Amino acid sequence: MTVTTIPTVGIIIPCYNEKEVLPLTIDAMRRFLKNWKEMRLISEESFVLFVDDGSRDDTWSQIEHVHAMDEQFRGLKLAHNVGHQNALFAGLAEGHPHADCVVSMDADLQDDVEVIERFLVEYAKGNDIVYGVRVDRQSDSWFKRSTAQGFYRFIDWLGVETILNHADYRLMSRRAVETLCAHPERNLFLRGMVPALGFQTTEVTYTRQPRPAGESKYPLRKMLALAWDGVTSFSVRPIKLLFLLSLFMLIVSFGFVGYALYRRYEGETMDGWTSLMMSIWFIGGLQLFGIGLIGEYIGKIYQEVKRRPRYIVEDKCE
Ligand code: UDP
Ligand code: MG
Repeated sequence: MTVTTIPTVGIIIPCYNEKEVLPLTIDAMRRFLKNWKEMRLISEESFVLFVDDGSRDDTWSQIEHVHAMDEQFRGLKLAHNVGHQNALFAGLAEGHPHADCVVSMDADLQDDVEVIERFLVEYAKGNDIVYGVRVDRQSDSWFKRSTAQGFYRFIDWLGVETILNHADYRLMSRRAVETLCAHPERNLFLRGMVPALGFQTTEVTYTRQPRPAGESKYPLRKMLALAWDGVTSFSVRPIKLLFLLSLFMLIVSFGFVGYALYRRYEGETMDGWTSLMMSIWFIGGLQLFGIGLIGEYIGKIYQEVKRRPRYIVEDKCE
C-alpha cells in the first residue's frame, strides 16, 4: 500500500494541566501546519486535536480560544482525569475517522515536531505505523533513564513486544487505529498494544528535548502504575512462573517425605518430627501447586475478558 495523494493528518495531543506550555505548543504547531500545508505535505483539512484530560487549570479555555480563532485546532474535553494512556486513546478514537493518518505526541514539545516530516515520508512509502525512537536519553535524569531501561528489559523478558526507547510519539494510519480501537480492554499500555497489531512498521530516530515550560505530569507514582499495567496487561508469565515453582516444590516435597520416613525408620528422629516435616513440605507444595493451577485458569479468563481480536487482516487479494 503506497500512498500517492496528499494525506489528511490529525495530530493528537493529550494535555493535563499544561497552561504554561500550551501557548508555546500552539504557536509551534501553527507554524508547522502552515509550512506543511504550503509544501503540500499534508492536506488543507489536516488538524491538531487537543485532548484535555480533566485539567484543573485553564488548559480547556485556551483550547476553546484557539479553536474560535483557528479551526484547524480542535479540542476534546474529558470530564475527568483518566491518565495519559486513556486520554491518548480517546484522541485516537475520536480523531482517526477525520484523517488518513494520525500522529500522537505530548503537549510539552519534548518530541521534536520536525520529525513528523520524516514520519510522513515513511507513511508515503506504505508504512502503517512509524515509531519515533529516541537516540539517547540525555535529557532524562539518571534515575528515570536507568529505571526505564531496566523496565523495558524486564518486560521484554516477560514476552511483551515493545520498541526500545519509544514513548508514544508515533504515526498510525487510519486502519491501524481502527484495529487498535477494536481492542476493548480497559487497562491500556499502548506501547505494548501497538507493536502487537503487526502491519508494516518502521522507526525514525530523534533527540528528545528538555521540557520548555511547566512540570512533568508523570511523577514516580504514575510511572510505576504504567509499568505495572505494562506487566499485568500483557503477560501471564508471572502466573506461569508460580505454577512452575509449585511443580518444583511438589517434587522437592516428595523427596523430603521420603527422607523424613527414612530417618524415622532408622529411629533417629524425635517424636512428631516426621509428621511435622511431611505436613510442612508436602502440604505446602500441594497448596502452592493448587494456587498455581487456579492461577493458570485465571490467566486464561483474563485473556478472554479482554476480548482482543483473534486476528487482524492486513491485505486481501480478491
Ligand atoms: N498527560 C495526560 N494525563 C495525565 C498525565 C499526563 O494527558 O494524567 C499528558 C501530558 O499533558 C503530556 C503527556 O501526557 O502531554 C506526557 O506527560 P509529561 O510530559 O508530563 O511526561 P514526561 O515527559 O515527563 O514523561
Ligand atoms: Mg514530557
